[in-house]
Amino acid sequence: MHVHEKFFIGGEWVSPAGTGTLEVRSPATDEVVGSVPDATSADMDRAVAAAREAFDHGPWPTMTPAERADVMTAVSAELQARTEDLTKLISLEMGAPYIFSMFGHVISATAVLDYYAGLAREYAFEEYRPGMLGNSIVRKEPVGVVAGIIPWNVPLFITMLKLGPALAAGATMVVKPAPETPLDAYVLAEVLESCGLPPGVVNIVPAGREVGEHLVRHDGIDKIAFTGSTAAGRKIGAIAGEQLKRVTLELGGKSAAIILDDAVLDEVVPQLLPAALMNNGQACVAQTRILASRGRYDEVAEALAEAVRAFKVGDPLDPATECGPLVAERQRERVEGYIEAGKQAGARIAVGGGRPAGLDRGWYVDPTLFVDVDNSMVIAQEEIFGPVLSLIPYGDEDEAVRIANDSDYGLSGSVWTGDVDHGVDIARKVRTGTYQVNLLDMEFGAPFGGFKSSGVGRELGPEGLEAYLEHKSIYVPLDHQPTLR
Ligand code: NAD
Repeated sequence: MHVHEKFFIGGEWVSPAGTGTLEVRSPATDEVVGSVPDATSADMDRAVAAAREAFDHGPWPTMTPAERADVMTAVSAELQARTEDLTKLISLEMGAPYIFSMFGHVISATAVLDYYAGLAREYAFEEYRPGMLGNSIVRKEPVGVVAGIIPWNVPLFITMLKLGPALAAGATMVVKPAPETPLDAYVLAEVLESCGLPPGVVNIVPAGREVGEHLVRHDGIDKIAFTGSTAAGRKIGAIAGEQLKRVTLELGGKSAAIILDDAVLDEVVPQLLPAALMNNGQACVAQTRILASRGRYDEVAEALAEAVRAFKVGDPLDPATECGPLVAERQRERVEGYIEAGKQAGARIAVGGGRPAGLDRGWYVDPTLFVDVDNSMVIAQEEIFGPVLSLIPYGDEDEAVRIANDSDYGLSGSVWTGDVDHGVDIARKVRTGTYQVNLLDMEFGAPFGGFKSSGVGRELGPEGLEAYLEHKSIYVPLDHQPTLR
């Protein structure tokens, strides 16, 4: 059992103001595997005050970027030393298959931190620009105190997408883990404590929605960094607009994978399927709409069906498992509701559609492939967030691009082709923030984020750092040559 009774606030372990607890249940067994205190608004006030103090009076914002990078590197090394424990913990709390938990959650998280430590060392936080009446020093200063609102689907990695650039920038942060998955955040807190991070730079306070919204609205917060549902993102964006807070929103997706006629199916399917079903289908970048030409439709349907059927469902802690359970009972109900909606709309189930035999405990659903799907159906338009794929036919390439773009979302997409240059041409026509040609990838040096309802702003790359910086222009006389920091 992983039982925690305090919050990490101001560099200390602090008792909660209230008495509520959040029980963490294994999605694979529904057994309670841990508990943490459920923060109240008073706890959040305390965390914001600590982050405010650390920003307004602490050393972190004025340390050199290289000094901050040294602390970040130490945090990354300590997390790396705990990779195996973290991998198991994340599989336990949210059901990610062990191998994906290790690479997609833990190793990716430390790699993002390493990337931002490296960027902090080389980034020009001050630049000199010659002008007409005067010269300018363009300074990039930390944005202030950040509220990091984290979803349950990739908790440590998504925390690091915010914490990495915030730390590099010199900002301070209150992290609110999702109530389903707070356990890994306690390991992060222990590591931050052991690596000499100044008090209050990072505060970790698990809570539900209402207290999360209190954090978002808090006067002491300068910027909100949110990942989660589009519905919650709209609400948080509205609050940020009203209060003129800086905001980054990473929301849902309904990405289309276009299989062109020159693609070699035997090469495509083993790469596309993990991209489509990753994290038990609970990934914003999952390639859940698969587009095949009418001429090859049956061939693609057959190849996909065979691969989906072979996808190994089971205990997330078993390294052979490819698909674990959904995070919670309500998530399974939601996914099963979509499967029913697909059937009602006239799509045909080629594989799955039910619950896997022999897995009577936990929130499992069969990896499911719908064929004969029209892009206007609910299953092709809404984010299901489960292992449910839709195979959609197209006539020619223009129609494929049109279908890919016929979505409220615009997060990711992919094209599978024998000609990479041609794939890049297709990528140029699809309105999404990231695009993959013949591979499953997410490059940490390039910006990540959404067009349309998939979000506002970018994480990763230098653009992700700039989301935690305010620009300041200082004009100096023409004959003055300043020393830059
Ligand atoms: P959610 O968006 O409601 O919750 C995500 C995080 O935001 C949690 O920490 C939650 O406590 C917090 N939150 C929610 N509303 C808030 C508010 N008004 N103010 C402050 N914090 C708030 O997601 P959910 O209910 O856990 O899942 C519902 C659906 O959202 C899923 O089925 C899935 O479709 C989608 N989802 C998408 C992503 C993604 O990465 N795109 C991640 C998680 C969930």
